[in-house]
Amino acid sequence: MKTGQINVQTENIFPIIKKFLYSDHEIFLRELVSNAVDASQKVKFLSSNGEFKGELGELQVEVLLNKEEKTLTIRDRGVGMTEEEIEKYINQIAFSGAEEFVEKYKGEEGAEQIIGHFGLGFYSGFMVSDRVQIQTLSHKEGAKPVQWESDGTPEFTIQEIEKTDRGTDIILHIAEDSIEFLEKDRVQGILSKYCKFLPHPIVFGTKTDYQDDPNGEKDDDGKVKRVAVEVVNQVNNVSPAWTKAPADLSKDDYDGFYRELYPSTFENPLFHIHLNVDYPFNLTGILYFPKISENIEVQRNKINLYSNQVFITDSVEEIVPEFLTLLHGVIDSPDIPLNVSRSYLQSDSNVKKISTHITKKVADKLGQMFKNDRKDFEDKWADLNVFVQYGSLSDDKFAEKAKNFTLMKNTDGEHFTIEDYKEKIATLQTNKDEKVVILYSNEPEEQFGFVQKAKERGYDVLHLAGPLVPHWISKMEQSEENISFARVDSDTLDNLIQKDEEIPSKLSKEDEDTLKPMFEEIVDKEKFSIQFESMNSADAPIIITQPEFVRRMKEQQQMGGFMGAFPDMHNIVVNANHEKISDILSTKTKKSQERKIKQLTDIAMLAQGMLKGEALSKFIERSIDLV
Ligand code: ADP
Ligand code: MG
Repeated sequence: MKTGQINVQTENIFPIIKKFLYSDHEIFLRELVSNAVDASQKVKFLSSNGEFKGELGELQVEVLLNKEEKTLTIRDRGVGMTEEEIEKYINQIAFSGAEEFVEKYKGEEGAEQIIGHFGLGFYSGFMVSDRVQIQTLSHKEGAKPVQWESDGTPEFTIQEIEKTDRGTDIILHIAEDSIEFLEKDRVQGILSKYCKFLPHPIVFGTKTDYQDDPNGEKDDDGKVKRVAVEVVNQVNNVSPAWTKAPADLSKDDYDGFYRELYPSTFENPLFHIHLNVDYPFNLTGILYFPKISENIEVQRNKINLYSNQVFITDSVEEIVPEFLTLLHGVIDSPDIPLNVSRSYLQSDSNVKKISTHITKKVADKLGQMFKNDRKDFEDKWADLNVFVQYGSLSDDKFAEKAKNFTLMKNTDGEHFTIEDYKEKIATLQTNKDEKVVILYSNEPEEQFGFVQKAKERGYDVLHLAGPLVPHWISKMEQSEENISFARVDSDTLDNLIQKDEEIPSKLSKEDEDTLKPMFEEIVDKEKFSIQFESMNSADAPIIITQPEFVRRMKEQQQMGGFMGAFPDMHNIVVNANHEKISDILSTKTKKSQERKIKQLTDIAMLAQGMLKGEALSKFIERSIDLV
């Protein structure tokens, strides 16, 4: 037996590594299983290049639980280690045997599939153990099996043992404060989370499976009976879809893999993007477009990040731009530094490149779909809308590309790109300042009357709805020259799209001065301001509008972008040319004048859905009297 000192610069670093290397203790299993997979990968590689001549055998990794002994063992049939190798790879903390291997066999097929990076993973075992043993037999000819053991102080022992199978057992003697890792379900849970797609079979005990009766016995319906059998519990799928070539996958394969990732989701994704980059960094993956609902938060953070098929995290905010977190799927990149802090990630140049690349791919895919089958794209637009608006708002490069495939739907259900639309409405909807005014409604049902009036004039009205519309509109007004958006009920049509020609007013200044106080007596002056407009005599006598800027302010306030309460102001627009208005002036008694004004404003309120409660029931009574 031999004793020695684990080689760290200062002893104080050891407890730090032990307890705080990873904030999440459960990842020790990920680290040890990936080491076992690396060891298997290495021996497979050495066998294929002829350096290892022995029998390869089944290269599976076993996870063994022994509750009595309080041990958890990770067993592989990989390369194993000689005593010298233990000295080198285990006793020198932060020396990565994995990196050394990749360096040595650089350029040879298969060598780059090694997971390890930092030479720290092994020590994560001490986060949950009092004592760790390595029992190992190297694949090298004439190698002697050895056991290394340490209790987590920098001291270790190393001795020869009996072992006939090639490979390594890592035996964790689980500490009192970590006994949760002796629970079968807990271990299974960790394995399914991190090891679900590792490239060598990972086996953990057995599980019950239902199969056709091997004796062919039949039940009453004449069908072969299903019987319960204990089968090997393999936790992983060794060749997940993203590692395959797109040409080898059908739509069903992609949909099937989607369900493998999200077993509780029933809906199929809209479409997918298969990512495959090898320069200037390595990245593979599949991103899925889910149907995006209005409540976008629930769909967030479903992208899983992998490194060489090892699950790393499902919070990818630091790696992809925020709007892309609405997508689902998998990104696998060995080039993302995984064991480092989040804030560091964002400044890492590889991470930045990855994020730029993915954004570009997503924009290109959408552009291509739009080009290839516009009709189909239009059909999907309702589900894509929020995503594209979100992307355009948060990423200028995306916005630039999205311009060409962003669609706007009008109240007749037709879709237009921005360019198409500007052209369509230019003639009629350009105002006297040469601005093209885009009219829209967020609720065509509720704003039916306004939409109708606009259409009667030959104007077109868009139907723009969704949580991001107000922001998106401001963005469009900034980035597109000479357009402005106005909600169809925000003013009279003559004011929304001002033309040079003015309709002469039938009311004199004096008439207006007489009428105005009458209105002000009837409505709440704090909330309504009265204005006279010389409108078409066929238009309504009174309309109630909310100025575009007031509504935008209120919307911003609701979204938390604005402090303090903004007053809920509306305009009462009186049509100076309507006969019912001039009629008020010629009405004899003050009482009947008031009645008429009240009735007309109530009708206008009703048209805007603003007449409620007592006011509504009084209006109904008054209307009945009038009949
Ligand atoms: P890394 O995996 O980043 O190299 P680790 O601390 O996880 O760092 O492991 C250190 C080294 O120990 C590995 O590179 C490998 O050479 C060796 N090693 C660890 N586990 C095994 C194993 N199961 N079989 C063979 N070698 C192993
Ligand atoms: Mg490792």
